[in-house]
Amino acid sequence: MPAANSGRVVIVGGAIMGSFCAWSLRKAGFAGSITVVEKDATYQYSSTALSAASIRTQFGTPTNIRMSLFGADMFRNIKAVFGDDADIGFQEKGYLILGGPDQIAERVAAAEMQRAHGADILVLDPDALGARFPGISFDGVGIGTFGAQHEGWFDAWSLLSTVRRAARQLGVDYVGAAAQTFETHDAKITGVELSNGEKVSCDFCVLAAGALSGRVVAPLGIELPVVPKKRTVFSFKTPFRLKDFPMLFDSSGIWVRPEGEGYIGGIQPPAEKDADADGDFEPQHELMEERFWPLLAKRIPAMEELRLHRAWAGHYEVNTLDHNGVVGAHDELTNLIFATGFSGHGVMHAPAVGRGVAELITGGGFQSIDLSPLGWGRIRASVPMVETIVY
Ligand SMILES: Cc1cc2nc3c(=O)[nH]c(=O)nc-3n(C[C@H](O)[C@H](O)[C@H](O)COP(=O)(O)OP(=O)(O)OC[C@H]3O[C@@H](n4cnc5c(N)ncnc54)[C@H](O)[C@@H]3O)c2cc1C
Repeated sequence: MPAANSGRVVIVGGAIMGSFCAWSLRKAGFAGSITVVEKDATYQYSSTALSAASIRTQFGTPTNIRMSLFGADMFRNIKAVFGDDADIGFQEKGYLILGGPDQIAERVAAAEMQRAHGADILVLDPDALGARFPGISFDGVGIGTFGAQHEGWFDAWSLLSTVRRAARQLGVDYVGAAAQTFETHDAKITGVELSNGEKVSCDFCVLAAGALSGRVVAPLGIELPVVPKKRTVFSFKTPFRLKDFPMLFDSSGIWVRPEGEGYIGGIQPPAEKDADADGDFEPQHELMEERFWPLLAKRIPAMEELRLHRAWAGHYEVNTLDHNGVVGAHDELTNLIFATGFSGHGVMHAPAVGRGVAELITGGGFQSIDLSPLGWGRIRASVPMVETIVY
C-alpha cells in the first residue's frame, strides 16, 4: 500500500476500534483530515460499552499475544499516554484458566509458547491452585494457567471516552450519522454517503463497524463473515470474598470476575440458541438458572448464595471463519482497510489494531507487530488462522 501522511481518511464506526485508529493515525503523524462516522453517539448498543472489558495474554498465536502485551502496557501506563486525567481502573489481577486432566500436556505447551513471546504465565497443579485460591473447588481440574502480569480488567467506557477525547483534541472530526452507501472508482472507495444526506470523500476508508461490519460492506459485494452473536452478562452479589480473585475461566465454560462490590459472569449459549442476533439485545435470562448458576456453585460452593443485581446482553462481532480479527486492506478495493471481527477480544486488541492501521496508512505496511496473519487474504481464501484459545 502506498504510504500517505496527508489526504482524507474516513472511519466507519467510532467506538473503541474506530477511535484507536483515528488517534493512532494522528500519533503516527498523519496530517490530513480524519472523519469518524458514528451512527449512535450514545454508544449504548456498541460492543465496547457492553463488554466485560478484560485483557489476557493466554492466546494460541504469537500475533494475538503480542497485541495483548501492547494493550496491557498501554493500560498500565494510561496516564503517561493520555495525561493525568486518564483513569481506566486497570486491575492487573490475571486470568485463571482451568483445564481437565486430559488437557495438561496441551496447556503446558501453550504456556511455554506464551512465555516465549513475553507473557508471564504460571502453570499450577490442583494443590498449588488450592493454596493460591482458597474457596474455589478444583475437583476434576488437572491444570490451571494464570497470567501473573499483563492480564486483568478495566473500565471500557472510560477507555473509549479517553481515546475519543484525545482524538478530538488532535483534530479528528466525529460525525453523527450512519454510513449508508459507498462511491467507488478505479478499484477504490472515493466517498461514503451518510444517512444525513452528506457525502464524505476519502482516500482511505477504515471499516470499524463492529458486529455490523459484514452488513455495512455487503452492498459492495464483499462477503465479510462477521456477524452479531448475543452474549449475556450477569451482575451479582455474594458474600464470598477472596483477595485477588482473578478473571476465572472454568473448564465448564463459565467465566466470572469481580466488578466493584460484586461480580460479573456469563456463559456462551448452546449452538441451537445462538442465531445471529439481528438487533436483539434482550438478555438470555434462562442461562442463569439452567447453566451459569449450577456450574458456578459447583466451582465455588459459597457462591450458591447469590443475588442477581442485573443482566445485560451485547453483541460479539463473530468472524465465523476463525474467530479472529480482520485487519488490513481488501485485495480489490485497495483503500478499504478492515479493523473488525475480533469475536470477543476486540477491546484488549484495539490499541494494537489502531497502531497497525496507522502504520499501514502512513508507512505502507505493518512495522511494530506484523498483523498480516489477520489480513483479508485468509478470508478470501477461506483458510482459517488457527487460534485454539477463543471464548
Ligand atoms: C458481552 C461481551 C463481553 C465482551 N468481553 C470482552 C472482553 O472481556 N475483552 C475484550 O477485549 N473484548 C470483549 N468483548 C468484545 C469487544 O467488546 C469487541 O471486540 C469490541 O468492542 C469491538 O469494538 P468495535 O469498535 O469494533 O465495535 P463496537 O464497539 O460495536 O463499535 C462499532 C460502532 O460502529 C457503529 N456503526 C455500526 N454501523 C455503522 C454505520 N453503518 N455507520 C456508522 N456507524 C456505525 C456502531 O454504532 C458502534 O458504535 C466483549 C463483547 C461482549 C458483547
